Amino acid sequence: MPQPAPAANRTAAPTPNPGPSSAVMGTYARQDVVFERGEGSWLISTTGERYLDFASGVAVNALGHAHPRLIAALTEQAQKLWHTSNLYRIAGQERLAERLCAATFADRVFFCNSGAEACEGAIKLARRYHHVSGRPERNRIITFKGAFHGRTLATIAAAGNEKYLDGFGPQMPGFDVLELGDAAALEATIGPETAAIMIEPVQGEGGIRVVPPDDLRRMRELCDAHGLLLILDEVQCGMGRTGRLFAHEWADITPDVMAIAKGIGGGFPVGAFLATEEAAKGMAPGTHGSTFGGNPLAMAVGNAVMDVVLEPGFLEAVQQKALRLKQELARVKDEHPDVVTEIRGLGLLTGIRVKQPAADVLKACTAERLLTVSAGDNVVRLLPPLNATEAELSEAAARLSRALERVSASRS
Ligand SMILES: *Cc1c(COP(=O)(O)O)cnc(C)c1O
Repeated sequence: MPQPAPAANRTAAPTPNPGPSSAVMGTYARQDVVFERGEGSWLISTTGERYLDFASGVAVNALGHAHPRLIAALTEQAQKLWHTSNLYRIAGQERLAERLCAATFADRVFFCNSGAEACEGAIKLARRYHHVSGRPERNRIITFKGAFHGRTLATIAAAGNEKYLDGFGPQMPGFDVLELGDAAALEATIGPETAAIMIEPVQGEGGIRVVPPDDLRRMRELCDAHGLLLILDEVQCGMGRTGRLFAHEWADITPDVMAIAKGIGGGFPVGAFLATEEAAKGMAPGTHGSTFGGNPLAMAVGNAVMDVVLEPGFLEAVQQKALRLKQELARVKDEHPDVVTEIRGLGLLTGIRVKQPAADVLKACTAERLLTVSAGDNVVRLLPPLNATEAELSEAAARLSRALERVSASRS
């Protein structure tokens, strides 16, 4: 028996298979693996196995693991200053806000730490906008089934997913949750209390459901006609994931408000909501805040991610890789018609719809040392780092194919 480690070390030691005896709250059905190190598109477990990471921490590790420029930015900032609070100006925050505005529709940015906070902030901004415009009755937001906006009380009400609302008491009012793609219901629901339409241009957790560009354009027109704000949740599909900096660019529209997070921090917790000057007009001093949001460490990493993603040719390369992955996955689908029913996605936001339970396919992928993420609608997501190599994309397809063979074999 090894000697028990001293208390200070014990917290850092890997704790495989956190079961009922783990001190970690059991809100996740975790896979029984602990990772020690990451290198680009690869994760190395404490037992030395190398996994091809096409989960990317759910689209967070946009530049893979241990990217030298992110390490340099974080360590350089760590030597100087970690945190000051938002009681003072933060240079890195002003710089990242300016760059986000220069690259998008936005004029103003609020920084927070997560996607849920970004969505929550966008919801607050929409209500506040109509309040200061003299129409406080406009406080309802139209949202869509299959959406995911986070796990706060407002964002679970916004998405309206019963599974996430169950047992959490009175549901926060103010959301009209419609079927995705039901144009008639959308027009019928807009009324004197409607403040905004909030939508993910590509539903991520919901199963990589791409909203048709025409539908997004129609929503833009409806918002303009009725004086509503169009809020896009690009927490998962933004920051280059679809091959454009933001997914709505494919539809040639701009929103009034946009929530972002996940990829923007490349693994450091960063979230933000962006808005036009007009939409943000109610967000005066004291109306909203965050202790940690946009702190110097987060902003150093956020700016470094921007440096890489905005480099000439980076997004074109993502599009090129997406094409390659699409071709590979089409071949995998042809080889496994007994498992795969559809390949979906936009850019490197990819979903494989399967006949068998998605969890079985995910497990088989893990057995082939390929990390994936499950989603709604019986979909397995492939979310490679945006800088994965073409060879890694082919390797992932080969591993997926072997995993699907396992799934077929176990069924026959
Ligand atoms: C992940 C996600 C969120 C929530 O982000 P958290 O950082 O987990 O709070 C919100 N919206 C979308 C589209 C997401 O994918």
